[in-house]
Amino acid sequence: SLSIGFVGLPNVGKSTLFNALTRQTVLAANYPFATIDPNVGIVNLPDERLDKLAEIFGSQKILPATVSFVDIAGIVKGASEGEGLGNQFLANIRESSAIAQVVRVFEDSDVIHVDGEINPSSDMETINTELILADMQTLERAIPRTEKEVKGKKADKAVLDAMIAAQTVLERGDTIFSSIDSDKLEMEHLQELNLLTAKPFIYVFNSDDEVLDDAARRQELTDLVAPARAVFLDAQFESELVELSEEEAQEMLEMSGREESGMDQLARVGFETLGLQTYLTAGPKEARAWTINKGDTAPEAAGVIHTDFQRGFIRAEVVSFEDLVANGSMAEAKAQGKVRLEGKEYLMQDGDVVEFRFNV
Ligand code: GDP
Repeated sequence: SLSIGFVGLPNVGKSTLFNALTRQTVLAANYPFATIDPNVGIVNLPDERLDKLAEIFGSQKILPATVSFVDIAGIVKGASEGEGLGNQFLANIRESSAIAQVVRVFEDSDVIHVDGEINPSSDMETINTELILADMQTLERAIPRTEKEVKGKKADKAVLDAMIAAQTVLERGDTIFSSIDSDKLEMEHLQELNLLTAKPFIYVFNSDDEVLDDAARRQELTDLVAPARAVFLDAQFESELVELSEEEAQEMLEMSGREESGMDQLARVGFETLGLQTYLTAGPKEARAWTINKGDTAPEAAGVIHTDFQRGFIRAEVVSFEDLVANGSMAEAKAQGKVRLEGKEYLMQDGDVVEFRFNV
């Protein structure tokens, strides 16, 4: 399944944040037989719609969608030179579907900064430079090979052009992801190279209260990293939150004047960044969110529950969450003509409440 790799300089709060992630033990309770890698943190995607569904259907259990994060330890300057840890580090990033870069913005004279001062843009540049250098090496190998293939009519010229365009972006010090739109990069031709900086980026700004309360400063940092997404949280605060009961945590959040925990924010932004969406099912046993890709068809969505559902797909009974809630029950929604019968071509919409009909 898709995961997001955590990277960042030493002492920026990665471990603090990651420990908070892994301490959210909801998953272990819901999936007792899943083995959980200590380097993987799996968090629930907050979804208030599930509570409402459970109410309507009298569901005993709520199973939200989840987002997986992987702790990728040890970026070091020179990682792209491929020595020891550096190699492993890059290999781990290659396996991730997106990158969450933790950046320190909190001030604390007790916590030493590796470069002696708090400077988010310089920190981001340090990390991104290693990733950019690694991608440049990939292209330096791929371009001559592809040139030969184009001459021998074994590859499309468009593929070579896309590689050269990507190289230009990297040479000016930009990541591929941040340049896809501005440079009109033909990503389908670059897919195979699995370039590190082509992965979607999230910047997690580990902040103190001062930054969290300073909208202008947050906007400045958000603009700096766009089109990548920015998340602002206080890792230490988050690690305290996960120690509390749900009620206590809610109270502490409200007292701090924040609407959503940093963890929930991270899960939500991470999920969106991976290009995922959910559809919902509900019954007396459980109300559940299922993860699919944006643009998936009804049979593909059914396949997430069981491959037999996809193979034997007949049709889907679909009602939008809003229509269901407005009518108060499935029976009433049906009576009002709000439940649609959708076929194989139907593109799933976020928040569809679905029941599949299939042959076994
Ligand atoms: P890592 O090297 O990136 O994994 O960083 P750690 O999570 O080990 O954090 C380094 C130090 O910074 C530890 O002493 C943490 O307690 C501290 N720290 C982490 N997050 C915060 C924060 O949000 N605020 C403050 N003041 N200290 C933090």
